[in-house]
This record gives sequence, C-alpha cells and structure tokens, in this order.
Amino acid sequence: MSNHSDYSFFHSVEQSFDKAALFTQWESGLLEQIKACNSVYSMRFPVKMDDGRIEVIEAYRVQHSQHKSPCKGGIRFSDAVNQDEVMALASLMTYKCAIVNVPFGGGKGGIKINPRNYSVYELEKITRRYTSELVKKNFIGPGIDVPAPDYGTGEREMAWIVDTYQSLKPGEIDGAGCVTGKPVTQGGVRGRKEATGLGVFFGVREVCNMPDVMSKLGLSVGVAGKRIVVQGLGNVGYHSAKYFRENGAIVVAIAEFEGAIYNEDGLNEEAVFQHRKATGSILNFPGATNITESTKALELDCDILIPAALENVINKDNAPLIKAKIIGEAANGPLTPEADEILIKKGVLVIPDMYLNAGGVTVSYFEWLKNLSHVRYGRMEKRFTENMNTHILGQIENLTGKSVSDEERRFIMHGAEEVDLVHSGLEETMITATREIMDIWKKNPTIPDMRTAAYVCAINKVATTYTELGIFP
Ligand code: NAD
Repeated sequence: MSNHSDYSFFHSVEQSFDKAALFTQWESGLLEQIKACNSVYSMRFPVKMDDGRIEVIEAYRVQHSQHKSPCKGGIRFSDAVNQDEVMALASLMTYKCAIVNVPFGGGKGGIKINPRNYSVYELEKITRRYTSELVKKNFIGPGIDVPAPDYGTGEREMAWIVDTYQSLKPGEIDGAGCVTGKPVTQGGVRGRKEATGLGVFFGVREVCNMPDVMSKLGLSVGVAGKRIVVQGLGNVGYHSAKYFRENGAIVVAIAEFEGAIYNEDGLNEEAVFQHRKATGSILNFPGATNITESTKALELDCDILIPAALENVINKDNAPLIKAKIIGEAANGPLTPEADEILIKKGVLVIPDMYLNAGGVTVSYFEWLKNLSHVRYGRMEKRFTENMNTHILGQIENLTGKSVSDEERRFIMHGAEEVDLVHSGLEETMITATREIMDIWKKNPTIPDMRTAAYVCAINKVATTYTELGIFP
C-alpha cells in the first residue's frame, strides 16, 4: 500500500485524474489547481499515557479543496497513516462530494496510532488534543472543515471532538456542525448507520433500471431476481445484502475472511450474522454449502458482485476468473488497476467506489444541515401531513362508500420521520449521480469505463465552480 517508499497513493490518484482530464476541455492550469492539495497540516503533539510516559503523536489534517466550504472527510486512526495517504484520501473526497452534489470540498485526517494499543482514556486524550490542535490553527469548524468517522474511529470519537470544540468555542451557535457521525443524542442524524449499504443498493438498482445498459450486459431490467455475491458482512456488506434481498434479489453467497457460504435459493444476512455471532464463523450455516477458500466466492457464477470488505481483492490473478456481469464497488479500492483493465476487456460493468459508496458522506451532509437548522427532520411537517392524509382519506371513503385495509391506512397516513427523509434524500442523491455519470459516458463513448466517466463528472463540476468563482487575484 502507501507505505512502499516507491509507491505514492496520491500520485496514483493524480494519474487517474489525468486519464479522465483528457476527456475534458479545461485549461491545464485549472486542472493543476484542482489536483493540488490546498492545505496540509502535519502535526506532532505530546500525550501523557496511563503509565506516566509521554508519547509524541504523529497526526495530519489535509484540506484538498476549498472550491466549496466547508471541507469534509473522515479521521482515520491507523498505524499505516502517513501524509501521502491522507492527501490521496482528501483528494478523493473532493471528487466524491462533487459527483453526489454534496457542496463540500475534500478533506481527510489521520492519527498514526493503532487504537487497540491504547486505553479508552488515552484515546480520549489523543482525540481531544488533536481537536484542540485543529482549533488552534483554524482547521475545524462548521464553515471551515468538518471531520467524520473513518477506520478506527466512530461515534465515540466524534462525541469527544464536538465536546472539545464546543468547550473551546463557547456560544458558537452552530458548533454541533463541526463534525458528523455523532451519536443521535449529541446532534447525530438517524439513518447514518445503514447509509453506505443503502446507497450502494440505490446506485446499483438505478443501473439495473437502465434498459440499454442491461441489454448490453445480457441481463433483464431491474434488481428483482438478480443473483448477488457479497464479500464482507460488516456494516456496508450487511446493509447492502439486506436491501438487495428485501427488494427481490437473491443473495447466493456471502464471504467473510474465515470462508464463504453458498445457497442458490438465497441467504438471509441477519440469520447469517446471528449464526456467525453464535458459532464464531460464517461456515456451516444451515442449508448452505461451505467454500473454505473465501476468495473463491468472488469467482462464483452470479449477476452482481459486491466487494464490501477490503482493497485490492480483485487483481490480475483472479480478474480473468470473475463471472459477474456487474461489480458494485462498495469497499474502497477493491480492484487493482490491472484488474480494471482486464474487466473492461471482458465487458464487465464496474460501478466505481468513488460515488457508489458515497452514502456515508451524503448522510453526513444531512447531519450537518440538521445541525445548522437546529431542528430534527420531520418535526415541522410530520403531524401536518398525517392530519391532511387522514382528512383526504376520510373524504375519499365518504364519497366512495368504501374503506381501505388497515395496512393501507397506516401506509397512507404515515407522515415522514427523520429516518424516512434521510433515506429519501439518499435515494434522490444516488439516482441523480448515477444518471449524471451515465449521461457523460453515453455522450462520449470513447470514455473507457464508468470510473473514468465518474472522474470526468467530478472534474467538470469542480472546474465549473472555479470558473464561476473566478480565481482570486
Ligand atoms: P467493517 O469492518 O464493518 O466490515 C468489513 C467486513 O469485512 C468485516 O466483517 C470483516 O470480517 C470482513 N473481511 C475482512 N477481511 C475479509 C476477507 N479477506 N474476505 C472477506 N471478508 C473480509 O467495515 P465497513 O464499514 O463495512 O467497510 C467496508 C469497506 O467499505 C471498506 O473498504 C471501507 O473503506 C468502505 N466504506 C465504508 C463506509 C462506511 O460508511 N462504513 C463508507 C465508504 C466506504
């Protein structure tokens, strides 16, 4: 990965960008500006550990682009964190946000620690000190830069960040919007946990609803009846599988690191999850066949493959053996560039990670909006909608002399709760982004793949913003 001295993750992002830029008309100086990381903050700070030792912590925050404010991107706690990786991830955030029309520039943060080697109290001290360093340099704030969870961080860390920020900025009315991914009790939004998996489902479903795309792949329109293989039964894999199954697709196989299971009649992700929890392994699930070599599941005969575990799982060795017609990149970077080339030649449609797994950042945007508006989604209109629906239904029943079933009544009456609106906003976002990328690809069939079309989409949007803003003299 990015630790190899001769490999630069940031440089590889620049190369993908350059490849896509050839399909645009923007002047080279503007393209250079879009690619560059605007601000890179590399810091070292001391933290006193439980045993009294002082440890110097290495950490970063990168703001790739301020063409929109604030910057947005997760904070990663990992041994592998380095400046090159944080710069690459920050630039990917700029392009991801642009594609899904989330009005943020890209950012990313990282602390070079393995969180498992620290006590909860030590982690809290590290997180709070990191936040205060960001405050000191004006690198965090609801209008400046808004972090979120990433590898090794979650709601707990976000709660520490918002608390530290607000104690250093008392009276800042929008302070809760300085970070997203917070617990609901601390200003978080409902629907975030399932957001990435649900977004993956919405994106793939939209592609499956395009008759021209499906006919090229030799598949029928719609997700119902499609045979799905999911790799990884974590947050993203579990929720992707759940929404595919609930919408009539058949999850024929699920792979975890200890092995994979197959059942051509379909697997229920919740039952599999409970089985794994109880027995410690996904294997020996009732009614399913074991596949002891987990990666073999990627090569199963299926319509849609959803890698939702790790990077680089499909590479030059196994790409020729892939039988899926569509790969939905739920994980970040599940395909190596060599695999990409092989799959393009095979005619496999790869739906790229850069936008397909943008559900998390999209719902983060909704959380930030909630924080700025200081009101829960649905609070103002839920009761009004329910009263109105009751009235309309009553009138219809009076006029027709017939009444609807109790189940129908509940469905028609229901006014939107926060989670309904968040899911609906996510659905709209993923459908629009999928159509925008596909339109670009259709208008220019020389673009080799959907990934490049997604980059072109991002470049056009960021460049248009710069052009409309003008470059400050
Ligand atoms: P997670 O840790 O909840 O789940 C990952 C799962 O993959 C785990 O169950 C793990 O056991 C399994 N796994 C590990 N090695 C495996 C192997 N060799 N074969 C099969 N399964 C294996 O993580 P997650 O949040 O679901 O994230 C998964 C991927 O999606 C990552 O690439 C992440 O960067 C990406 N992603 C996540 C989000 C999000 O909101 N969580 C957003 C965007 C992208």
